[in-house]
Amino acid sequence: MSFLLETHPELDVAALAEAMPGWSLDEVLTWGFKTFGQKAAIGTSYQGSGLVIIHHARRLGLDFPVFTIDTGLLFPETNELKGRLEDFFGIQIEGLRPEQTVEEQGIEYGGDLWTTNPDTCCTNRKVLPLQKKLAKLDTWVTGVRSNQSDTRSHMKMLELYEFDKLREHYILKLNPMLNWSRQEVWDYIKQHKIPYNALHDQGYRSIGCWPCTKITSSNENERAGRWEGFDKTECGIHTFLGQNI
Ligand code: SF4
Repeated sequence: MSFLLETHPELDVAALAEAMPGWSLDEVLTWGFKTFGQKAAIGTSYQGSGLVIIHHARRLGLDFPVFTIDTGLLFPETNELKGRLEDFFGIQIEGLRPEQTVEEQGIEYGGDLWTTNPDTCCTNRKVLPLQKKLAKLDTWVTGVRSNQSDTRSHMKMLELYEFDKLREHYILKLNPMLNWSRQEVWDYIKQHKIPYNALHDQGYRSIGCWPCTKITSSNENERAGRWEGFDKTECGIHTFLGQNI
């Protein structure tokens, strides 16, 4: 299949998707930046693998924009980490914010929405801000790893999605960390002394908003501590795009 973005009609996404798992992280990121420049951006929640991507990009001189989704319900440790990472990498991290404050949301929905309808809460506070950002991009670089959860085990390193039918806007998702293990990620972070979330040292393995994140044991799925009590393992940012083409 040919790549459908008007700006890059020459790209054969299917052939690239097949070849890319054999490329190094440096090669994937270099290809992404040479092809899309700043229309490719790294999204991170400061979990391990996103930090590895940023470190590689900075070392290679690839000036990807970096963004995070600031739901207004992040742990203080996560908010504090943002500044440390900006200093360490010499970058600005754009915080994507929901339209409503937490208080405004509480008034509209009658309380703590994450306790009654976390899907709607995640849509309002994560998915919609991300959609606004992706509307301006060609490529979204993520830190997902295939062994984080069942949902993520089916992801590919390069995925093409129809983002906006009306505008014939397609977006590529680049998942260059897919085949890294948790151990490899953390060995890299420690080796390069990259700042990380202090909550990891308290036993948190996957960190999101404070109301929906619990400590898990090492024999549980990494994301088992998210949305405890609900049949939910994804906030929606990695699933709202539907089936990749
Ligand atoms: S993770 Fe929890 S608090 Fe955060 S947006 Fe989703 S439901 Fe709301």
